[in-house]
Amino acid sequence: MSQTWPLPVGLKLADYHKSISNQQPTQAIIPTQGEHLIIPLLQHSGAKPHLEIALGDYVYKGQLLAKPQGNISAGVHASTSGTIVAIEPHVIAHNSGLADLCVVLEADGKDDWGNTRLPRLDYQQTDLKTLVNRVRECGVVGLGGAVFPTDVKLNVRQPVTTLILNGAECEPYITCDDRLMREHAAEIIAGAQIILHMIQAEQCLIGIEDNKPEAISAMQQAVSAIADKRFEVVTIPTIYPSGGKKQLTYILTGKEVPSGGRGGDAGALCINVGTTRSVYQAIVQGEPLIHRYVTVSGEAIKQAGNFEVPLGLPMSRLIAAAQGSTISEPWLTMGGSMMPLPLVSPQIPVVKATNCLLVRPPPNTEVVMPCIRCGRCAEVCPVSLLPQQLYWYARSKEMEQVERYHLFDCIECGCCSYVCPSHIPLVDYYRFAKAEIKAQRDTRHKAEVARTRHEFRQERIERVQREKAEKLAKHKTALKEQESSSKEGTAETDAKKAAIQAALERAKAKKAQQANTTSSSTEGSA
Ligand code: SF4
Ligand code: SF4
Repeated sequence: MSQTWPLPVGLKLADYHKSISNQQPTQAIIPTQGEHLIIPLLQHSGAKPHLEIALGDYVYKGQLLAKPQGNISAGVHASTSGTIVAIEPHVIAHNSGLADLCVVLEADGKDDWGNTRLPRLDYQQTDLKTLVNRVRECGVVGLGGAVFPTDVKLNVRQPVTTLILNGAECEPYITCDDRLMREHAAEIIAGAQIILHMIQAEQCLIGIEDNKPEAISAMQQAVSAIADKRFEVVTIPTIYPSGGKKQLTYILTGKEVPSGGRGGDAGALCINVGTTRSVYQAIVQGEPLIHRYVTVSGEAIKQAGNFEVPLGLPMSRLIAAAQGSTISEPWLTMGGSMMPLPLVSPQIPVVKATNCLLVRPPPNTEVVMPCIRCGRCAEVCPVSLLPQQLYWYARSKEMEQVERYHLFDCIECGCCSYVCPSHIPLVDYYRFAKAEIKAQRDTRHKAEVARTRHEFRQERIERVQREKAEKLAKHKTALKEQESSSKEGTAETDAKKAAIQAALERAKAKKAQQANTTSSSTEGSA
């Protein structure tokens, strides 16, 4: 049994509300005829993929709708069969509440794969590049919330000794990974074997919090079945946020990921159990990521549970699948109660990042009081930040200072907001500051690009002018040379003519002299 290193900070919550939704088997939702799925093109970190279909096209389940573009991107596929009835902006689950480009797919109720499944790959006989490309084409991204393209993670550049499977699921209310581990442990382990092969790691540690005994048991059985000594299921204490990838890496290896660093800096790669199953489905079953496990829970839902949901399904349909809400205007959020993302409309679709839909009564608005400098926020921060300092600097928009205090190491876990006796929404300030800094960087980058373009243009204009002037000067010189050479030619001709003339004159004079000599000798003889 591997040693564990307990988190020195974090929160022991009074109630994790897991039992509301973890009792029933997961139900698969299949879109019925005429139902609309709203599939956003950008469901991952990185570049938006390129649209491959047009309005009116019929598509099969699993067919590629948009192809990945650039180094960090992921494919998007049809979650069922049907017709593309719109390609238009639609409000999606995002902090900004803004709309983004979506494909609207009207289901035909057949849920027909056609021939879209890709051929099975034998990972031990396939080169790394082909395996990585398959994961990319299948649109596999981190399902723990970060939605970072998995192919980029698997194409490791630094040696990794440990693969960490993240089954911690530390957020209150969320139980989808718990159910997934209970129901598909063998597929998760098979996916982990593929990943171990790809990254050439020596061991796989599977971290699960001790409030999920059934999942621990299912994963242990799956590990026993493959008799692979590299695998170990490690039970860890239930404490929030042990499921953060840096926190879990520390708990399982005792190694800290440095500020601004990646898991690879600690020799570890941390991947969510749902993502691992998706890798298995991509490589072995040839199936893209088109559905995911989602928990529907909260005090205002009639029948909480877990669902296997086609991506693009509106949240309203998910609520209906859970027998509806007990109140007329529930408060809808995505994610657990510690990091909730408010949803502005029940028509917002399920995306790759959707692990949980919470349906609750609207919260009581807490009166925000001034900071009393109690320091409780710093005591619970799992990243050892100074939340109070970050708050003051973010509030006064001193962005350089916020960055100096490692804002970007903040995992937005919400521990500081949770314990703040003044009810200051600290995480909202950090999100605002992060967005502001990113916008400033973007503006600076755009200005830099514009400046470089302007300089390049100026340089090109000057070069063209310089080349023109040089050409003109060359032409003038050539003309002069031609002129002077023609003058020289004339002088030479004149000299030749004069010489000929002189020779003629001399010949003429000689002839005349000879004539005179002949006539005087004739006269003398007479
Ligand atoms: S917990 Fe709240 S009141 Fe206490 S120091 Fe932090 S921000 Fe201020
Ligand atoms: S939200 Fe950020 S600052 Fe607050 S406790 Fe979590 S990591 Fe620390």
